[in-house]
Amino acid sequence: MPRILDGKWVRDQIVMELRPRIERLRSRGRAPGLAVILAGNDPASEIYVRNKVRTCEELGIFSEKLTPAATSTTAELLDLVDGLNRRPDIDGILVQMPLPPQIDSRRVLHAIAPDKDVDGFHPVSVGHLVANSPGPVACTPAGVMEILRRYEIPVAGRKAVVAGRSDIVGKPMAMLLLHANATVTICHSRTADLAAECRAGDIVVAAIGRPALLRGNFFKPGAVVIDVGINRLTTAEQAEAAGRGAEFARKGTAMVGDVHPLELEHVAAYTPVPGGVGPLTIAMLMSNTVKLAEAHAA
Ligand code: NAD
Repeated sequence: MPRILDGKWVRDQIVMELRPRIERLRSRGRAPGLAVILAGNDPASEIYVRNKVRTCEELGIFSEKLTPAATSTTAELLDLVDGLNRRPDIDGILVQMPLPPQIDSRRVLHAIAPDKDVDGFHPVSVGHLVANSPGPVACTPAGVMEILRRYEIPVAGRKAVVAGRSDIVGKPMAMLLLHANATVTICHSRTADLAAECRAGDIVVAAIGRPALLRGNFFKPGAVVIDVGINRLTTAEQAEAAGRGAEFARKGTAMVGDVHPLELEHVAAYTPVPGGVGPLTIAMLMSNTVKLAEAHAA
């Protein structure tokens, strides 16, 4: 039987370890501060931001949500970021993606002061990651490393395959695994034979955003499978094909990762969706906020 890697268990440990650090910062005069910019009316983004703000409240982190109009210009967003860069009570600035289409997202992300780059997307942070020097690391891949570490899954010397090469997940994930001394293969939409590449992996991280695309025959016996994907299924046929027919019939909607959930009997361990990687993303956001606040307080 494969081991199920429980993201909530890992998250709870991280959160527990953050509490005394937050308390120490507060007792020294100021709570860590996170600003979240939410422009537009994307319903998924609204849920993500609500969860982030709520977690801040639970932990005693000061948070401020800024909601510029969906019609805002790039210049207006840049002004907003500039104001937050100057505020001493704000340690981290998060710009929730996607921004409305008229806004130059890259310019906005690059305008965040590197010492407040809580998501680790600024080129300065990416440079630190590549150089393996300290700096904020993108939350989802950092969370995956926490799962591997806290479940004591060996990484050094093993073959790790990352499916997906986005700036947010795939690339930083590959870099973190490389720094942990894995031999890393990065796959993407132009990879000739994704199944064959994945089958070579002792650890496979799926981050492609395609429902249940990675089937059982993509994994060798004993592999560790980390499923980053979050895909909402909107038709009964889609849900059936992704192994979520019963859930869809019950709720009229269903969620699945990038890995087929019913074809994992032969692997050593895997992260479920939901409840695997998902809970780590916010935990690592909190962790990054606290680290930045500690650096500012030093
Ligand atoms: P993205 O769309 O930016 O990148 C997808 C990547 O997958 C691309 O690099 C593309 O080349 C590759 N790809 C697409 N189709 C492929 C195929 N058929 N074969 C091989 N590679 C293929 O997505 P992203 O932002 O990296 O997110 C990936 C998934 O992870 C999504 O489902 C997203 O919802 C999820 N996600 C989850 C969390 C979390 O907290 N668990 C956080 C971020 C993203």
